[in-house]
Amino acid sequence: MRQRIAVVGGGPGGLAFARVLHRHGHPVAVFERDPAPDARPPGGTLDLHEGLGQLALDKAGLLADFQALSRPEGQAMRILDTDGTVLRDWRPRPDDRANPEIDRRQLRDLLLGPLDVQWGRGVTQVVPGARDGVLVQFADGRQEAFDLVVGADGAWSRVRPAVSSATPHYTGVTFVETFLDDVDTRHPDLARLIGDGSLGVYGVNRALVAQRNSGGHVKVYAQFRVPLDWHTNLDLADVEAVRSSLLALFDGWAARVLDLLRHGTAFVNRPLYVLPVSHTWTHTPGVTLLGDAAHLMPPLGAGANLAMLEGAELAESIAAGAEDLDEVVRAFEEQMWVRAGRWATITAAGLERLVSPDPAEALALFDQVQPS
Ligand SMILES: Cc1cc2nc3c(=O)[nH]c(=O)nc-3n(C[C@H](O)[C@H](O)[C@H](O)COP(=O)(O)OP(=O)(O)OC[C@H]3O[C@@H](n4cnc5c(N)ncnc54)[C@H](O)[C@@H]3O)c2cc1C
Repeated sequence: MRQRIAVVGGGPGGLAFARVLHRHGHPVAVFERDPAPDARPPGGTLDLHEGLGQLALDKAGLLADFQALSRPEGQAMRILDTDGTVLRDWRPRPDDRANPEIDRRQLRDLLLGPLDVQWGRGVTQVVPGARDGVLVQFADGRQEAFDLVVGADGAWSRVRPAVSSATPHYTGVTFVETFLDDVDTRHPDLARLIGDGSLGVYGVNRALVAQRNSGGHVKVYAQFRVPLDWHTNLDLADVEAVRSSLLALFDGWAARVLDLLRHGTAFVNRPLYVLPVSHTWTHTPGVTLLGDAAHLMPPLGAGANLAMLEGAELAESIAAGAEDLDEVVRAFEEQMWVRAGRWATITAAGLERLVSPDPAEALALFDQVQPS
């Protein structure tokens, strides 16, 4: 008899898991809290690494589609000093496919394909050990039983408490996100400044980063070290008040850099939370976690990649038809914990250097990781 498998969360990790199972003809229930695919803005562009996110797409049979959609030129990276001087300007070779960028919406649609996601089905709790299997309880009061429930429901996972008491803590760094549309026609100077990929400007305990998405859309992140309650005297819904506050925070930076904030359309406060580095749990039959639910870490280009690869690997192992599902999950967890622990250490150290009292640290980090 086929095992009853559910995944909670239709982000990159949950969808990669479901899509690979689907490819192998294994049924899976996908529960997503959002009422519809476009219920929320999808967020910024993602770079998918050759050995991580791209490997997951290969396992899903989607690598060629990804290559057709993604933007290798988006791997370009330019670093400026706060006075506007260009310090570094890396451009990818035409054949460089190591980390091409893709819009989140494009990636989601690619993974969704034929999947039958159950939208608007927020999970409130998962209860292992019931006679009929693991119980999934929904916000609408219903419940269903499964042999395996995979929590791919992100930072504030409702599945996680079934296996772990860990909760995310604040890193001390907040991102405030804004965006520019039609940048090539409406803000050509900024378009030239940003180039084809990303622009980073690093100062003392703060940074401004701009990332080009497809269709002339640019995401801008003001990044700074502050207490969580930094906005107590600020109405975050008041766009002009947030803009003034940010311009004051970045006072003295080059005017052409500050134009990224002057032309920003709306501002979203995103305090960065993380789970403890090397978060593990006592194996609990019938429930596991992957992606941010398992190892939320600073957003330095790894989270979606790891979530997707974990989803694809677990699905492949299940589809391989091992007799003992619990052994498959146990082996998956061991492998995930080692790899995620390594990346959590790297990204935690990376965040310390990128938003640092010494801006030279950020430059030194890029010099280490960028191909010369
Ligand atoms: C500013 C920023 C930039 C980033 N850039 C990159 C990058 O370039 N590369 C990269 O690899 N990573 C990047 N990341 C990290 C990446 O976004 C995450 O690591 C990744 O989205 C995690 O995927 P996931 O599937 O585990 O969780 P999520 O993407 O968080 O998806 C979880 C899904 O579960 C749903 N859900 C939540 N709760 C419930 C519930 N109770 N019931 C049902 N459904 C629920 C949510 O609606 C969501 O759809 C970035 C993050 C940020 C904040």
